[in-house]
Amino acid sequence: MTGRFVRSSLLAGLAAFGLYSCAPLESSGLRGSSPTATSGALTRVDPSIWPSLRDPVPTDPQVEERIAEFLAAMSLEQKVGQIIQADIGSVTPEQAAAYHLGSVLNGGNSAPGGKPFATGPEWLAAAEAFYKASTRERPDGTPVIPIIWGSDAVHGHNNVIGATIFPHNIGLGAMRDPELMRRIGEVTAVEMRVTGLDWTFAPTLAVPRDDRWGRTYEGFSEDPDIVASYAAPLVEGLQGKIGDQDWLRGDHIVATAKHFVGDGATNEGRDQGDSTVSEESLRDVQAAGYIPAIEAGVQSVMVSFSSWHGEKLTAHRPLLTDVLKGRMDFGGFLVGDWNAHGQVEECTNTSCAGAIDAGLDMFMAPDSWRGLYDNTLAQARSGLISRERLDDAVARILRVKLRSGLMDADPPSERPNAGRFELLGSPEHRAVAREAVRRSLVLLKNESATLPLRSGQRVLVAGDGADDIGKQSGGWTLTWQGTDTARSDFPGATSIWQGLREVAEANGAEAVLSEDGSYAERPDVAVIVFGEDPYAEFQGDVPDLAFRDEHDTLGMLRQFQDAGIPTVSIFLSGRPLWVNPY
Ligand code: BGC
Ligand code: BGC
Repeated sequence: MTGRFVRSSLLAGLAAFGLYSCAPLESSGLRGSSPTATSGALTRVDPSIWPSLRDPVPTDPQVEERIAEFLAAMSLEQKVGQIIQADIGSVTPEQAAAYHLGSVLNGGNSAPGGKPFATGPEWLAAAEAFYKASTRERPDGTPVIPIIWGSDAVHGHNNVIGATIFPHNIGLGAMRDPELMRRIGEVTAVEMRVTGLDWTFAPTLAVPRDDRWGRTYEGFSEDPDIVASYAAPLVEGLQGKIGDQDWLRGDHIVATAKHFVGDGATNEGRDQGDSTVSEESLRDVQAAGYIPAIEAGVQSVMVSFSSWHGEKLTAHRPLLTDVLKGRMDFGGFLVGDWNAHGQVEECTNTSCAGAIDAGLDMFMAPDSWRGLYDNTLAQARSGLISRERLDDAVARILRVKLRSGLMDADPPSERPNAGRFELLGSPEHRAVAREAVRRSLVLLKNESATLPLRSGQRVLVAGDGADDIGKQSGGWTLTWQGTDTARSDFPGATSIWQGLREVAEANGAEAVLSEDGSYAERPDVAVIVFGEDPYAEFQGDVPDLAFRDEHDTLGMLRQFQDAGIPTVSIFLSGRPLWVNPY
């Protein structure tokens, strides 16, 4: 087969959909190898085999004193509200305040004004509205507790029009550059602050082991060492350094290590599925990134949708309480995933005392918050949820709010960086993203020195991905699945075609765009941009790793081959795929 590619080169992983970091076949899912469920004995957890850590944040007596004061003054209603997070698409600032909600999030498809995505000023105004409602004086004299807003800024502040978009994690893993991760974290944090938000649901520390999983690209690598090497610099880029004046504030925000634990190990790569790996493998492979993340002071951990040996992580006391909070001394709080508590046995989206009992501190209850509030309040009153556990959950959330300065901060619009919309996608920030794109490209082969392209050449740029920003950015970009966007939604972005044209013109070459590959004048070389269309969680799961060619790119490649025109293939994908014919 390779002989047919006499004069071609394959350049993979441009922009957001980066390329994989060396996947050995055995674990890529190509052979459909998935571990089978084994005996229940494996599900026993032995915390003593897990790394013994110390919370790296020194206990601050003043913070602890204030937490005690809050707990003494808060009503039961307030405590229950504090541990519930609603989605801004399903709650108004007034409701969030009336129900004392501790947090809101914007899901992948919700933005201010009921839209899927919005501009910087719209985000800032919404942050201001939720904050102001949450901090209004309370007639009953109970304490005022500002709300915290979580957002999936997973490759830049990717929900906001005009923000800097970085390659997805799989591409960043391919560049093997922990220090660049720190700068990416810094840029992301500042852009979030511009819009008044203070908490990101990143980094994803999954170690994907079966690339049929639609979230493979959200992991840095299937190699736990690479994931571990990125965790601390990225957490520090986002949060700052423990002990520094601007830790969690100023230019920084609160980060989340997710999804604890084993999200990348589910059988057949099924999203939210069951992982049946051994406890040692869970520790050594799947949890590898959590150790440095905790040591770097990550302040929240999101619990995985998935199960381990049939038991949902969301209510997994041994792993959440005994291992993570106990043995590993994690000092922040645990947030659930999107209605994940509803998947726990004997639970529904609106009732799940078992999750809190097991160690969850905050429910992500996007649209279910109201029923969940009523039921959780009843369960707290009846003692089904112990006062001790409820107080601990609230204390953990308040601790992060105190550590980050949120309790004493100005309104979002008056904090450092707020409203500096010129920072969204600023030239300096985009320079960091461009560096990451350059570094994350993987050159698979370069036969007959097709690359680099040369001055004087006529370059035909073809393929459905050539001039499509949405496609080159992938999922979690403006919309949840990264679909339904238009060119005009990406001010300041550069498509692969635009970039090629710019460089060609500056270097005395001629570039022509022809998406379907047709041409009047014979080109010297053709650049064909193709690959996976955007997708995100569960919609991106596939039964096997053959590239699904929706646009008959193979036919186009064969035409160039038959005409004897050398081709450069740029393949955009969120995971390694079988592309041998290409
Ligand atoms: C939300 C996402 C969420 C998903 C989970 C979507 O509607 O926008 O943020 O992850 O639902 O089912
Ligand atoms: C995803 C999380 C995400 C959350 C909020 C969930 O469906 O699994 O990664 O942070 O939605 O959008």
